Amino acid sequence: MAPVNEKLNSSQASPLAISGNDRSQDFRRDSHRADAENALEFDAAIFDMDGVITQTAAVHSTAWKRMFDEYLRGRADRSGESFKEFSHTGDYLVFVDGRPRSQGVAAFLKSRGIMLDPGNPDDLPGTETICGLGNRKNGLFNQILASDGVALYASTLLLIQEMRREGIKIGLATSSKNSAVILNATGTAPLFATIVDGLVSEKLGLKGKPEPDIFSTASANLGVSCARAIVIEDAVSGVQAGAKGGFGLVIGVAREDNVAELREHGADLVVRDLSETSIEHINRMVRAKRAGV
Ligand SMILES: [Mg+2]
Repeated sequence: MAPVNEKLNSSQASPLAISGNDRSQDFRRDSHRADAENALEFDAAIFDMDGVITQTAAVHSTAWKRMFDEYLRGRADRSGESFKEFSHTGDYLVFVDGRPRSQGVAAFLKSRGIMLDPGNPDDLPGTETICGLGNRKNGLFNQILASDGVALYASTLLLIQEMRREGIKIGLATSSKNSAVILNATGTAPLFATIVDGLVSEKLGLKGKPEPDIFSTASANLGVSCARAIVIEDAVSGVQAGAKGGFGLVIGVAREDNVAELREHGADLVVRDLSETSIEHINRMVRAKRAGV
């Protein structure tokens, strides 16, 4: 299946002109062309986790909704204001998806005109602080995970395995603080040569998406420049981070029928699933982007 949206059309690349009757020269030119076309244009691929590797985006959305609806309902009951529920499209995708937990809490509450104290990371779940609400969400997320398990995107794992066979280094960059639990539960941890998650970010003081810190740190850990690395993301904040970081290519995975949003916020290529692309296709896209085509 063809990619649903791409900035660069690799089929526009002009074929090498061959002139004259010297067949051996033509052959040499052809082999040069084949070498140039086969040369890898990137050395590392940095994958987001939730929604790209694991089918956990829906679990997150459900946990956020339960937590916020519970909080908003209690607030409405106390104040006599009307209750307006947390929505997946209008709230989760806009304010929360991809961001570090506390930033997601703060961004959504701000959109409703609610300002709370930041609190402390060890606030009891449900305490009326940014951290307390974030901890409540995390508890609900773990409950749902324990009862329902984690599904993986097979097409993503296939692409990662093919890349590893080509010698491309694979990194994971996620805002999640639960990455170790999820990667170990799914047996996917050994696929990644570096993991920069929410806990590493906290330790190193990295800014969350839409800033590029976690992707550029993963790239540096792999010993690869951002220009020679690609980013694969499903969140708007994630493709923004990839675009800001000057990566060789930013691939948006539109799991939410949000092709246009990902494209507008910095994805060079948008697919609905990674089965729609291949190393060869990605390589052509990186080459074309670098050439400014
Ligand atoms: Mg994601």
